[in-house]
Amino acid sequence: MFQPFHDVVTNVSDTIKAYEKELDRPVIGVMPAYFPLELIEAAGGYPVQLWGNNLPIENSDAYLQSYCCSVARSILELELRGIAGMVKAYAFTSLCDTLVNLREIYRSIFTKPTLELSIPITRTVQARNDYLQSVVQSVTGGLEEITGEKITPERLHRASKQFGRARSLQRRLYRIRRESPGLFANHDFYAVIKAGFFLPVDVYNAMLEGLLQDLDKVERTADNRPKLLLSGMVFDPLGVYKILDDSGIRVVDDDFANGWRTAAKGELKTENLAQGITEYLFNPVPCCCVYNPDNDRHSYLLQKVKDAGADGVLFWYVKFCEPDAFDRPQLMNRLKEEGIPAGFVDLELTMTNFDALRTRIGAFCEILQNK
Ligand code: SF4
Repeated sequence: MFQPFHDVVTNVSDTIKAYEKELDRPVIGVMPAYFPLELIEAAGGYPVQLWGNNLPIENSDAYLQSYCCSVARSILELELRGIAGMVKAYAFTSLCDTLVNLREIYRSIFTKPTLELSIPITRTVQARNDYLQSVVQSVTGGLEEITGEKITPERLHRASKQFGRARSLQRRLYRIRRESPGLFANHDFYAVIKAGFFLPVDVYNAMLEGLLQDLDKVERTADNRPKLLLSGMVFDPLGVYKILDDSGIRVVDDDFANGWRTAAKGELKTENLAQGITEYLFNPVPCCCVYNPDNDRHSYLLQKVKDAGADGVLFWYVKFCEPDAFDRPQLMNRLKEEGIPAGFVDLELTMTNFDALRTRIGAFCEILQNK
């Protein structure tokens, strides 16, 4: 059932090249996070999401300090090594200082076009809308230049339906995981979500629909093993989920920027595009990188733990993501005050030896088992 998704995530370059040829569309590399892929689709591009990779860092250190996050360093490595030849342009958001700087590095050392969707740091919806008017115009204009095609209302509407469908199918998979922990391995679940970063949206939707139909036929059994909620920016490296699977831990939900924080987003409203994008960026889930004081992460996470029936929360810290690190101590304290076990692991996307992680995850599992 899950093998086709694993095949995609273990053969990313070949997958993208094959579909680039089939679709005959320019590949646009989408940097973390929340850039509406609908815009790229509507402009006739093929969006692929870059959330880092496990290439050893050999060249990026010449441009990024070693204390920059391994997401940015490993993405830069792709272009520096010439592996990303099929990517014709890059789409950024102003998610964090690292990405803003990364875009400037791309502009100064590479010749590929870059686009930036700046996420406003303002308090009111009106101010966000006003700011995004010109930003959205510049991004859509830039995309049209890259692809040579016009973004029409019809194309936008269609793309909104396609990606809205993808996220709604992902939400169904999340719901199945919450309601039937143990029905599938943690490793399989994240391979399914990750495959969506690289596949054309219609192909991905068809695969997800098939998977959900197959899962409907699988008999549900009670599973009393410890249930865990994960929180962080990026759910990689996938290899770590095998440790969780071996430990008998059931991940029942997550709060990852490239997991639920994105899957939870509804259909992009396209009638007034700037307003639709404002709503898309700021809702419904809070994120450490998006300034939105009206959407509190503490109460959100507590409610999420309750709804998922999780026994504890493990913070999944990809070194050295500053926005994630800034929020974590308060979030952990708040969970502990409420009697919810909370721990954290720190990871590098490039890591290949998981022994130390196995020990830390094992120790946290024991706490959950004895709860
Ligand atoms: S992992 Fe953190 S620091 Fe790195 S690009 Fe993402 S938000 Fe920025």
